Amino acid sequence: MARRSNQSDPELLRKKLSELIENFTNELKLNDLRGKVLKLVPAFHLLRDLGSSLITEEIPAAIDRVIFYLKKYPERIIKGDELMVVSGISDWPRRVRELRVQQGWAIISGVTAKEMAEAEESGDMEIEGRSLSKIKTDEYVLLNGERDKQAADRWFQANTIRKLKGVSVQDKILKYLRANVGSPVTGEELRYVANNRSEWARRVRELRTEEGWPVATRTSGWPELAIGTYVLEEDRQAPAHDRTIPDDVRVKVLERDQHSCQKCGWNHKQLNPSDPRRLLELHHKVHHAQGGENTEANLITLCNVHHDAIHAGKLSVEDFLIKQ
Ligand SMILES: [Zn+2]
Ligand SMILES: [Zn+2]
Repeated sequence: MARRSNQSDPELLRKKLSELIENFTNELKLNDLRGKVLKLVPAFHLLRDLGSSLITEEIPAAIDRVIFYLKKYPERIIKGDELMVVSGISDWPRRVRELRVQQGWAIISGVTAKEMAEAEESGDMEIEGRSLSKIKTDEYVLLNGERDKQAADRWFQANTIRKLKGVSVQDKILKYLRANVGSPVTGEELRYVANNRSEWARRVRELRTEEGWPVATRTSGWPELAIGTYVLEEDRQAPAHDRTIPDDVRVKVLERDQHSCQKCGWNHKQLNPSDPRRLLELHHKVHHAQGGENTEANLITLCNVHHDAIHAGKLSVEDFLIKQ
């Protein structure tokens, strides 16, 4: 129900509303319920008009007022009620969805943030000093003020994958990530691919920690990534012996090695399409299969090129330049 009066002068609207409320004192004395309700309806409409009139720029469409407001306060926690006020319509949640799906704005909802936190995928990520798990289900955050123009295409792709029959949630997520190698996708997209099943975040984490897919997040190896985004860095699984590394160990090793290859010093900041080095992997010095443990002492950070070299027998652990 999109309605908006052609009067958008806030002071005028305020006066009318105030008059209506003032006169309502007479209705309150009467016993006619329906009469009271009918008298209040215009007050509701005026209140909405007043809310949408607060955005003074000439922005007639509710959806545009919603994104105008979110863009004014990026990376801030915005309550759904605020969006109700500025949109002036009751179906504002649908506009938020359209902004994400059709226009590619990275708007994360409290529901998604909570699920990421529950799957321990958010680490100590904070927005306005609140951990992701503390964001309420009726709150929203615009993660950055830039529209991702590819996102609209990705949502189309996501929609195709989510409808696949007989494919597990994890496989759908993997399919989607593999279709977008190297491009950050949002938790909202992965949740959608998973048909909004709350297990999505856990399944993503398992792809990294158990299946050895290089799915990076800000807290699991790529600190420059935006909050709430995931990247499949390369379309390949780690060699079987380098899988099943718990995230806390992974993060400790990466931090110890300053997020850089211990052979050549490469890190994500040097990412460049003409360079075959594209991601960091953890290598077990004593192979897992030979009893090597998932401990900091037994793990070392390598770029994909030097990790391949070591598995091809062209390099040995003793060759490392850096500290170890
Ligand atoms: Zn290297
Ligand atoms: Zn290895």
